[in-house]
Amino acid sequence: MCPDDHSDNEKSEKTVTSRVLVVEDNPELRRLLNQGLDEEGFDVTMARDGREALSIAESSEPDLLVIDIGLPDSDGRDVCQALKSAGVEAPVLFLTARDSGADRVSGFSAGGDDYLTKPFVFAELVARLRALARRAPVTSKEEVGDLRLDPVRHVLTSGEQSAELTPTEFRLTGALMSRSGEVIRRREMIAAAWPSGAIVHDNTVDVYVRRLRKKIAEVKSETEIHTVHGVGYRLE
Ligand code: CA
Repeated sequence: MCPDDHSDNEKSEKTVTSRVLVVEDNPELRRLLNQGLDEEGFDVTMARDGREALSIAESSEPDLLVIDIGLPDSDGRDVCQALKSAGVEAPVLFLTARDSGADRVSGFSAGGDDYLTKPFVFAELVARLRALARRAPVTSKEEVGDLRLDPVRHVLTSGEQSAELTPTEFRLTGALMSRSGEVIRRREMIAAAWPSGAIVHDNTVDVYVRRLRKKIAEVKSETEIHTVHGVGYRLE
């Protein structure tokens, strides 16, 4: 097969070439990411710091963002929030050198969809980015009946009520809401909500669905997640 034949591969996955903006100050890592992602068929733009990222993102509308948390002029999480408030809706993967639980959580509450701790394996980054690209529609505001999913605040709302979602719950809800009325198979839900290659058992999905049902009840929505026995779930 021709090594440049990305378009056919991507067509079969029903995606177009993803434009990815990488914000990273380390020159060596920047060079590797630029070259590597380009070879993987991404349309790559690089930024060195937060200021450069903001000016590029406003004009280029990236589909995916990779943001280093430790930037010379700002914290990557603040850059992420600035981008979100500037209307950039692309999913965000944070790169972090700090492997503390608190940082992960604040990364997600800053609007991050995933993170990788340095040093990371390049193939892992590519797999996560592909997964984020598949989920990209989730980042647009989803609405089903009286239920709304807010991609900026990661909350589920109905009327005045709101419930916070974990990143996995958020992606799962997005998958169900983006195809409301249709049966979503368990393996489709796993592909949408967990990192590619993760081992997720059917009963884990069921546990998450129970939690989501609780949150939907919490916001007093009429919308329900229906079980389709032996197949999956349907939200309507
Ligand atoms: Ca850095």
